[in-house]
Amino acid sequence: MIPLAEARAHVLQQVAPLASTAVAVGDAAGLVLASDAVAAELVPPFANTAMDGFAVRAADTIGAPVTLQLVGTLAAGAAFEGTVEAGQAVQIMTGAPMPDGADAVVMVERSTIDSASNRVEIEIEVEVGNHVRRAGEDVTTGDLLFRAGTVLGAGHLGVLASVGLQTVEVIRRPRVGVVSTGDELVDDGGVLQAGQIRDSNRRTLLTLVAEAGWEAVDLGIAIDEKETIREAFISGAESCDAILSSGGVSMGAFDYVKVVLDEIGSMRWMQIAIKPAKPFAFGMVDGTPVFGLPGNPVSSMVSFELMARPAIRTMAGHADPFAPRLLAISEDSLTHPPDGKTHFLRVEGEPDESGRWYVRRAGGQGSHQLTAMARADALAVVPDEVEVGPGDEVEIMVLR
Ligand code: AMP
Ligand code: MG
Repeated sequence: MIPLAEARAHVLQQVAPLASTAVAVGDAAGLVLASDAVAAELVPPFANTAMDGFAVRAADTIGAPVTLQLVGTLAAGAAFEGTVEAGQAVQIMTGAPMPDGADAVVMVERSTIDSASNRVEIEIEVEVGNHVRRAGEDVTTGDLLFRAGTVLGAGHLGVLASVGLQTVEVIRRPRVGVVSTGDELVDDGGVLQAGQIRDSNRRTLLTLVAEAGWEAVDLGIAIDEKETIREAFISGAESCDAILSSGGVSMGAFDYVKVVLDEIGSMRWMQIAIKPAKPFAFGMVDGTPVFGLPGNPVSSMVSFELMARPAIRTMAGHADPFAPRLLAISEDSLTHPPDGKTHFLRVEGEPDESGRWYVRRAGGQGSHQLTAMARADALAVVPDEVEVGPGDEVEIMVLR
């Protein structure tokens, strides 16, 4: 068995960020910026009012209350043609551009309009710039908005939209193929024949890929037959940036997956000192990374989290590919008999009011017992010969 860190290093040194490409800002959510984003416009583009009220000359409000002559009304989106002269005011709505001549805004709550005489009484003295949002106060031309490597979220895309960017240079969204291997697998919903089971790994892995924001490509079930397996991996390598396969990486006698992958690729077959997900394979087929995940349903998910997700995140341009780890208090005993492995236990939990996490077993911990994994909020990380009793601290990897 090799340590998890060694297996990860082996995989991570063979993957690299994908090529960059220009995509519409509207399609860039979750992608990683490939070059610095620089502003070519001001935000706000012009000085405007932050309040509904009256645009005035601040000097006119000295000695308030004062009465000013109304010379116009300005909604957001409109522009005032003239100039506000001494003794004049323009009624103005939030976001409307400051009229020439005016240098402050008096909020509507501090003024009384007299429509009959077309005048407004201003109750308070205001200073120059009062409630005025200056042009370029958020962004000025040439500003470095976000550096290459930034993961684009809602706020980032909003800023890019605010400076009028239509497209943005990002690392391409990975296309990830998912194939299940094994003669026992069916997925048609029919009556199970002797020895058959339903393929669940493909569903979970396709969903994990989609949830990560990557493009999931269903490569189907490859039965344990050399030509079928070869065809699945060769066509998968052609159309995808990475392939996740499950099954056939352990010691089974009829697993042609090994034979075929050794023929068409450069695979390393590993036994990692973890439980679940000890068997794992990684290599390249025609330059495409292939992750050979174990067949047991919990193992394939844990293997995805520990091995495939960090590698594909790296391909997607993420600088820090690993999931954050937290310290939690365990309500159950999580100690395991010494076996040389770090155990990743499926736990449910939540933070209390002070933010401290409390976790407990999410159900049966067998690698075939997917329900506990489905219910789990986190994996508790218990190294060999480390005792975790009720009330003890344990490291957790949060899954959601
Ligand atoms: P293997 O890694 O092929 O030796 O499979 C280990 C265990 O996982 C066996 O019990 C398989 O039947 C089961 N298994 C393999 N592939 C899948 C799958 N796609 N969905 C559910 N169970 C599977
Ligand atoms: Mg199998």
